[in-house]
Amino acid sequence: MDFYKILGVARDATPEEIKKAFREKAKKFHPDRNKGSQEFFKKIILAYETLIDPEKRRKYDIKLQKEISLLDNALSKVYHALGYTPVKKRGKDIYKKVFISLKEGYLGSKKTIYYTRKEKCSICEGTGVTENSIVKECKSCLGKGLIKKGFIKIPCIKCEGKGFQVLNPCVSCGGKGYIRKETRKTFKIPEGIKEGDHIKIKGGGHCGKNGGDYGDLYLVVKFQEEDFQLKGKDIYKTVYSSSKDLKKGDVISIHHFLGNMLSIEIPEDIKSEKILRIKGRGYKDKKGYVGDLFLKVIPID
Ligand SMILES: [Zn+2]
Ligand SMILES: [Zn+2]
Repeated sequence: MDFYKILGVARDATPEEIKKAFREKAKKFHPDRNKGSQEFFKKIILAYETLIDPEKRRKYDIKLQKEISLLDNALSKVYHALGYTPVKKRGKDIYKKVFISLKEGYLGSKKTIYYTRKEKCSICEGTGVTENSIVKECKSCLGKGLIKKGFIKIPCIKCEGKGFQVLNPCVSCGGKGYIRKETRKTFKIPEGIKEGDHIKIKGGGHCGKNGGDYGDLYLVVKFQEEDFQLKGKDIYKTVYSSSKDLKKGDVISIHHFLGNMLSIEIPEDIKSEKILRIKGRGYKDKKGYVGDLFLKVIPID
C-alpha cells in the first residue's frame, strides 16, 4: 500500500499538504460515517504517522521505491483473479466557458480555473478492485455474463454482464474507480485570442475507465466586458453625452480596456449620432496587428 496514495498527496508533498490531506481523509473515512471502515481508517492514520515524521518518511521512501515495481504486479494479480484484463477507456472531454477581460486577451496572460471532474482513484488505479478484494463468480449466470431470456441470451442483470461480483470493492471509491474532486488548472491565454476560441488543456477532462487516459478540457473564451463590442480586431463603444459638451474642441474621456483613460478631442460639433474613429486603440489579432476603436457618440438632451 502506498501511503502517498492513501492520503492522495504527491511524493514530494510538504508537511502542510500531508496534514491537510490527513484531516480531509480522516473526516471523510471516519468509521462513524457511512463511508468509513475501521480498516481503511487505520491505514490513513498509519500513512499520516509515517509521512509526517521525517526519519520514518525517509526509511519509508526507500521501501516504497522497491515496492513500486511490484505494484504493477499486484494489479495484474487482480486481473488474473478477474480472469480477464478490463478494457481501458479514455475519459470524456469537458467543455467549460471561461470569462476573460479584453486586457487579458490583448496582452496574453495566465489564469487559473477551478472545476470538478472525475479523478482516477489512486488506491485501485481506477479499477474499483484492489488486491484485497474478493472476486466471486456470479451465481446468476455462473460466470458466463449472459442469462437466457426466452430464446435469446441477454447480459446478466446481477453482474452487468461481467460474470463476476466484487464482494468488497475498493473502499476509497466504492468500486467506481473514480472520485469526484475539485481540480485546479493554470492555463495560458494567447495574445489576440477571440471570443469563442477554444483553449485546450490536454488531460484536463474526466479520468478514463480501468486506467484509461484522461480526456481533455476545452475552455471556450468569453469576454467579460459588456460595454465594448468586438468586431474582428476593432472595438465599438457607445458614449452618451449632452450636446452642449459635444462642441468642436471638447474632450470626451473614456476608460480604455487596457486600464488607462483616453481623451478624445471632438473634431466638429456633434448634433446627431456620430462615429469617431481612434486609430490603434482597438483589440489585437493573433499576428499582433492592432485594430481601431470606434466610438459611437450619441447626444442626449
Ligand atoms: Zn478505488
Ligand atoms: Zn452474472
